[in-house]
Amino acid sequence: MTQKFDLGPLKAILDGRRVSAGESVLQLHSHDESYHAPHLPDVVVWPHTTEEASRLVSWARQNKVPVVAWGAGTSLEGNPIPVRGGMVVDCTEMNRILAVRAEDFQVDVQAGVVYKDLNKQLARDGLFFPPDPGAAATVGGMIGNNASGIRSVRYGATKDYVMRLAVVLPDGSVIHVGNRARKSSSGYNLPALFTGAEGTLGLVTEATLKLVGLPATFMAVRAAFATPLQATTTVYTIMRAGLSPAAMEFLDANVMRVLNADRGLALDEHPTLLMEFSGYSRRGLAEEMAFVEEICREQGALTIDRGIGAEEKARLWEFRHQTYESIKRQHIGLSPLIMDVAVPLSRYSDMVEFCREEIRDLTGYLFGHAGDGNIHVHVMDEPQNPQRWARVEEATSRIVRQALAFEGTCTGEHGVGIGKIRFLEAEHGESLALMKKLKTLLDPDNLFNPGKIFL
Ligand SMILES: Cc1cc2nc3c(=O)[nH]c(=O)nc-3n(C[C@H](O)[C@H](O)[C@H](O)COP(=O)(O)OP(=O)(O)OC[C@H]3O[C@@H](n4cnc5c(N)ncnc54)[C@H](O)[C@@H]3O)c2cc1C
Repeated sequence: MTQKFDLGPLKAILDGRRVSAGESVLQLHSHDESYHAPHLPDVVVWPHTTEEASRLVSWARQNKVPVVAWGAGTSLEGNPIPVRGGMVVDCTEMNRILAVRAEDFQVDVQAGVVYKDLNKQLARDGLFFPPDPGAAATVGGMIGNNASGIRSVRYGATKDYVMRLAVVLPDGSVIHVGNRARKSSSGYNLPALFTGAEGTLGLVTEATLKLVGLPATFMAVRAAFATPLQATTTVYTIMRAGLSPAAMEFLDANVMRVLNADRGLALDEHPTLLMEFSGYSRRGLAEEMAFVEEICREQGALTIDRGIGAEEKARLWEFRHQTYESIKRQHIGLSPLIMDVAVPLSRYSDMVEFCREEIRDLTGYLFGHAGDGNIHVHVMDEPQNPQRWARVEEATSRIVRQALAFEGTCTGEHGVGIGKIRFLEAEHGESLALMKKLKTLLDPDNLFNPGKIFL
């Protein structure tokens, strides 16, 4: 491949190293975990500091080269695919934990820190950073997508933990937004503007994150129901009863079957709820467990398994983290399309029913963070077969439109990327124009992750 521009100035910024246009490096940075078509960048760079990142971006601005921030590339909607080529800024070597401020429940990190590594280190101080997207994501990528996950029902999404950011703007300048106070009503909430922006407004290089104390112990319940409706109604009933689950996951019968087949388990193959509660005493959790069990039985649970302690939690639902891999392994030769929508809790049951109908003729699986009203549709099919793929896209499109009709959102956590662009007008109406104005204000040349969120 002929190089579109001279790599000399980039090598000068990064001491002659940490710049690559090698074929395998470009390939690795051409795709995420989604089905969206890959696209090669022209060059990949690995800055170590905010100052280096700022100089790289200034060079890109002068030369009108697109800039795409890269974390771990685990997105599911094509979010970091460099669709217009240019410079991928791989943040994984900006991976230092800068300061643990245990007494303030805060940590300062560089954007490339992997949140699982962060949590291992924080556990020594009895603390953790709760958003948990499952994959080996970086803090920068989590901020980019405003990621959340199984613990968001109790702890919220990444946006709830971002206190302060260092951001390289598209003109190469560096700004610091936010502060370390636990609350503030001072001015516009700029950390929130960059959170969920998918790298379209700036490159986050450092963040101060809020932390939470690690719970002393856990209780888990797994309950299987005859119908999805019984399972989803139980979600609402448990939350209405004033219980505060730390996780509340719904898996349909197909998911339970695939997990059994793939992992040699003997799980009840009915719609299932996986629940986690945390607290400081086994006695308190035992009382809570009895109450949860009573509610599940009242809602018609066929089988209930439960236990207290970290080992019981792992026994009862560690397999949930394998869902994605198990489904893929059981359908070798097919590709996954994974999409998510979120709706108000009162519409969750209807949404699950709607999804079930839509994917009835497809190889499809439903699961999700039920306590957040978030449902994932995972379809295995053949993107190279236009007829089949048109049917998959029709189903997912109808699902998104129904979520919007329920006053929900086209994505609860995976972001817009490429896959959800076509729904933004329907979801945001006139406020989409304001988003576009903000984008133009900060990035007049449309160089930061072009082709994402808007065309
Ligand atoms: C098996 C599996 C399960 C998943 N489950 C969940 C889940 O439960 N919840 C969930 O939210 N997501 C989930 N995801 C999606 C994904 O893991 C998350 O969105 C994650 O936060 C992406 O992080 P990353 O480091 O891989 O970022 P990337 O994919 O590399 O990037 C994500 C976006 O952020 C931008 N970006 C990256 N770094 C920066 C930076 N420093 N500054 C500015 N922008 C930046 C990128 O340009 C891109 O637009 C899952 C993915 C997989 C494969």
